[in-house]
Amino acid sequence: MNPPSPRTSQSGKPHPVRAGSLFVVAAPSGAGKTSLVRALLDREPRMQLSVSFTTRAPRPGEIEGRDYFFVDRAGFEQRREDGEFLEWAEVHGNLYATSRRWIEERMAAGVDIVLEIDWQGAVQVQRLYPDAVGIFVAPPSIQALHERLVGRGQDSVEVIAQRVSAAEAELKQAHRFQYVIINQDFTRALGELLTIVEAARLRFAQQKARHAETFDALGIRG
Ligand code: 5GP
Repeated sequence: MNPPSPRTSQSGKPHPVRAGSLFVVAAPSGAGKTSLVRALLDREPRMQLSVSFTTRAPRPGEIEGRDYFFVDRAGFEQRREDGEFLEWAEVHGNLYATSRRWIEERMAAGVDIVLEIDWQGAVQVQRLYPDAVGIFVAPPSIQALHERLVGRGQDSVEVIAQRVSAAEAELKQAHRFQYVIINQDFTRALGELLTIVEAARLRFAQQKARHAETFDALGIRG
């Protein structure tokens, strides 16, 4: 758990605001984050999800380049040394990272981006992109989280116990996020996520970038 200090853009300044917004979604495992993000992308097909690099082995059904770029530890470390990562973190013994180039290109093109990463990565991204929108997805209770993990049928009793105790630690980091969604009812939680996305797009800086001519014509400055 030793994330690097974050980098700024090549000029050394924080990245300027673009029309696109950057959403960073974090949650303990079992809170329902992946399903919520998938449903968000179905509703918002122009949003793009960043595909991370990981040293974790693929799970059954996971596809290279769609779910993750799977690399070995040496390959990961080489990329990290070459400055290819916007952020990285160790989670449950595996290394994870976000591609710097992919994010910078999409941001420059004004695309809305979603990062589904852990809280340590979220903190690094927020430092680099102060306008990034941080969203924490919480379960309604520890009991509900436990039941979801058991219901998934993916993990042994020991792994579930580890994940629950990791979740309790991760919940202590929720205060770092601007928004919190309590995922008790999926439809409601999705509605809340869509509301956050909509509100983020209506921020002054995003509206100014998107509607520069209208702002000029109206004499809106700032
Ligand atoms: P999983 O192995 O279950 O797919 O992911 C484990 C954790 O790593 C999740 O909390 C997931 O959000 C996080 N994660 C996935 N990709 C990244 C990444 O690029 N950076 C960081 N910091 N965390 C990530």
